[in-house]
Parts: sequence; structure tokens; C-alpha cells
Amino acid sequence: MKKLIQGIVEFRKGLTKQKRELFARLALGQRPDVLFIACSDSRVVPNLFASTEPGDLFVIRNMGNLIPPVESNDQENSVPSAIEFSVMTLNVSDIIVCGHSECGAMQALSQGVEKLTCPHLQSWLKYGEESLNKLRKGVVIDPSLSQHNQLSQVNVLVQMQHILSYPSVRERVEKKQLRVHGWWFDIAQADVYCYEQSLERFVLIDEKEAKLILERLG
Ligand SMILES: [Zn+2]
Repeated sequence: MKKLIQGIVEFRKGLTKQKRELFARLALGQRPDVLFIACSDSRVVPNLFASTEPGDLFVIRNMGNLIPPVESNDQENSVPSAIEFSVMTLNVSDIIVCGHSECGAMQALSQGVEKLTCPHLQSWLKYGEESLNKLRKGVVIDPSLSQHNQLSQVNVLVQMQHILSYPSVRERVEKKQLRVHGWWFDIAQADVYCYEQSLERFVLIDEKEAKLILERLG
């Protein structure tokens, strides 16, 4: 906490004219082009690993980067409202579902949620059960990874399907106005991977891969 307070002082000191102008412009409205869905984990910092600026990303973060399918129709409105707003009002062009290595939510799912002592977390993780079932049925993307990291990668693909259950998302994807991407962050290596549909695996985003992705984006 002390680090945060000191950090505000540092931030104020380091505010350049350029940065002040950026914030003044952003005060008039936001136009992010990406909805970024990540885990709440403190080690996953998209602004840092993708070098983004304020105003670039509209963000949803929760335990396990999970997306309740639209048909689940329960009391969970936080994720659906953020999806609707970013897609229907902000008109984002891309959605990124980003999982990560050593995810506590994936470890809890792997070990069995019945062992958890947090009742809300136990209930929330039901949105990851489909991923666990797929892994148990033999769906594996990278067999060299540990069990919970394999689950985390499968979970990215499952949550990409969950987000397509939202009519606003599906319609725009079908009209090619919106793209859904799967990313995976390896904490130990500080590497970001993207899921390549044609290869059916996650590929490291290095300069070469970034060039291919940028060409595809047009
Ligand atoms: Zn996590």
C-alpha cells in the first residue's frame, strides 16, 4: 500500500505535457478498439506487456478470465454488461481473451473446487468446468505443459466460444466487424502467445509472429 502512495507522487512528478494532453483528450471520451479479458491475477499486467496507453483497452478482469455463457442467465451481470457496452456502444473491433500460466483459478479447478473454502469462488468457477471436462476428455494444446497450464490454454478457447454466445458479439463476428483472439501469458518468461487456429496451438508473439498478425489484420 505504501508503494501505491509513493507511486502517485512519482506519477505526478513524471506527468509530461504530452501525458497531460492525452488525459485532457481522454476526458472528452474513450474510444478503445480492444476489449481485453484477463484474470485478476496481480502478475498479469496487459498495459505493461502490450505497452498500451490509457484509453487503449476496455478491460474485464475476474478469477480465471471466465465468461458466463449468455444462456447461463443467472445473477452475474458484471461480465455481460461490460461485453455489451464495449461491443454495442464503444464498437470495439477486437476482443482478446487472455489466460496465463500458474493461474490459481485453473489450479483450483484441476484440484477440485469442492476443496475450496471460498463459497463465491467455488460457485464462480463453474464457468470453467467445461474447460476441465474438455481436458479430461483428452483435448490438449501443448502436452509439454503442467496440468493446470494445459487447462489454462484449453480454457482460453472455451471462453472464446462462451463470448460468441452473446448475440451482439456473434452478429458482428459473422459480419466481420469484430474479431475474437485467444492469448496466453507465460509469467516466468514474460512471453505472450496467441492462438493460431491453423496450427491449433499457441504461438509466441515475437517480431516474426507480430509481423504475420499485423499483415492479417490489414
Ligand atoms: Zn489467473
